[in-house]
Amino acid sequence: MNNLPRFSNNLILSGILMLLVLFPLLNCSNGSKNDKNSKFGIVIHGGGGARDRIEFEKNPELERAYKNKLKEALSEGYEILKAGGDGIDAVEAAIRIMEDSPLFNAGKGASFTNAGTNELDASIMNGKTLRAGAIGAVKFVKNPISLARLILEKTPHVLVVGEGALAFAKEQGVELRPADYFYTERQWNSLQRRLKEDVPYGGKLKEKQKENNEDKFGTVGAAALDKNGNLAAGTSTGGRVKKRPGRVGDSPIIGASTYANNQTCAVSTTGLGEYHMVLLTSKEISALIAYKGMALKEAVDYALMKELVELGGAGGAIAINKNGDVAMSFTGEGMYRGFILDDGKAVVKIYKE
Ligand code: ASP
Repeated sequence: MNNLPRFSNNLILSGILMLLVLFPLLNCSNGSKNDKNSKFGIVIHGGGGARDRIEFEKNPELERAYKNKLKEALSEGYEILKAGGDGIDAVEAAIRIMEDSPLFNAGKGASFTNAGTNELDASIMNGKTLRAGAIGAVKFVKNPISLARLILEKTPHVLVVGEGALAFAKEQGVELRPADYFYTERQWNSLQRRLKEDVPYGGKLKEKQKENNEDKFGTVGAAALDKNGNLAAGTSTGGRVKKRPGRVGDSPIIGASTYANNQTCAVSTTGLGEYHMVLLTSKEISALIAYKGMALKEAVDYALMKELVELGGAGGAIAINKNGDVAMSFTGEGMYRGFILDDGKAVVKIYKE
């Protein structure tokens, strides 16, 4: 009987001792969890179908301009993420930089329809909430990605197109620009060339290949992981040169071009939209990770190099996952692309290594 209190005292004492020993360990494992969670990064593309190397060899200034613009977009996104901002803010900010540049086929440098107009497509998705916003075939909007974000945040819809999207932009006080703001000589000349050529879409494989090589895509996109482990993705484009007015491509279609899911990855694609739209490339990449257990790069390569190519498509994709792994793959000669992770080192590339 007398032994009992001593026994319980011993128990309490050893409990305290155990806590003292375990506390630093618990603290330490918590610390490493935080370190893991504080991983962040952003990966971007400025479209597949980069200009021929020869063009850049003749004009190194132009190559530098592309690389600098990609770096600027990356560092804009990086600063937001580093400060603890949301992935979706980083995606929007990086894409706005590229939309404002005449170098890319989005916003300012958008391609022309066969009627000589500019019709813009964009989408953005939040990987935590699985909510998305998108706009299609909208004119005069300086930054289509921001209008897509407003669709996500201020409406119960996912995709709003044409006149309706423009009316919503006006309602929201979004920055508009007159038609001539979107004019670039490069895109205009590209339309003139294409109008003369008459290369059919679809048809025999040879014709498709010709078309694939000659289409210089130029769409822009971003995918980000923030310090809270949230993923987000977005895409913006003027669409394919010489498209019919009213044609909507893959860029504003959730699951075709843009997809983000905290459980798998965040993706943005570029390339022949009609092929991404039937493959549902970005959702396919996510599904390959979720259901086949593929690693990020493996899933991106499988969807693009095997599935898309087998369909007769061409293009590229960028992706990031919650571990901060990035993938950047494409079927052609090049893709404007880059990434920056928490080490702050921007990596920017154009051609295959
Ligand atoms: N995917 C875009 C579209 O088909 C084109 C591109 O990526 O440049 O509209």
